[in-house]
Amino acid sequence: PLRLRLDRLSIDRNEFIERLRSTGRVDSYEAQLQTVSGHKFWALMSAQAFELRGERVFMVGFSDLTAQKAIEGQLRELATRDALTGVSNRRHFFELAEKELARSERYERPVSVAILDVDHFKLVNDRYGHATGDAVLALLARTVRRELRNVDVLARYGGEEFVMVMPETDKAAAEAVAVRVREALANEPFDTSEGPQSFTVSIGVATRVDREPLVAMLKRADEALYAAKAAGRNRVVAA
Ligand code: GH3
Ligand code: MG
Ligand code: MG
Repeated sequence: PLRLRLDRLSIDRNEFIERLRSTGRVDSYEAQLQTVSGHKFWALMSAQAFELRGERVFMVGFSDLTAQKAIEGQLRELATRDALTGVSNRRHFFELAEKELARSERYERPVSVAILDVDHFKLVNDRYGHATGDAVLALLARTVRRELRNVDVLARYGGEEFVMVMPETDKAAAEAVAVRVREALANEPFDTSEGPQSFTVSIGVATRVDREPLVAMLKRADEALYAAKAAGRNRVVAA
């Protein structure tokens, strides 16, 4: 038998009781409950007030939502994350980037983006196989994430291309971050049947000009990336 302490209903308690008092019933209310032993779980609650031998009583029913909440969390992960690398996927990137651009506009703060592309990645796949190529992409994401601040967005833009959004970062600072990322990756070898091998990346950086739209910034970053490739790869170019 499950004994519950309704007085531990946390922040939802007052609202739940208030609604029950004023309307006489509450339907399908999601709340976090806690058992006497301290176990917290999400529940869907319904309650009804009625008179019993002249006394006002409340009848409360609930069902455990733990499994459903876990699935909701998994679905959210699937919808926003790239499965191979664990960073944000392309769709989620656009959502996060638009938020950052709106923020930069509101507070008139700088914001930069960078597009990163692995140099000669086809050779990695051809020489060591697709599984090793996949491992390189996962290693790359881990390494780049380590070099960025928590507020920076890192996403898989497609294939072996990644994109970053750096809030509060002007051109000089963004270029410095990109150079640091490039160096960190060049010093992070991946395992192969022939022993550790190193890889390099090229990065194009663009810092927002006025109220420039996201697509325009990405286009300039992509052009800078193309220039970095044309200049010999393993380098950073700022638009
Ligand atoms: P460049 O220096 O010009 O960028 O040369 P590249 O070989 O990296 O360029 P290209 O864009 O021609 O090749 C990218 C390759 O990345 C081709 C594709 O098979 C591979 N690729 C894309 N996505 C994945 C993936 O998820 N896993 C693996 N293993 N390979 C991928
Ligand atoms: Mg590419
Ligand atoms: Mg490439």
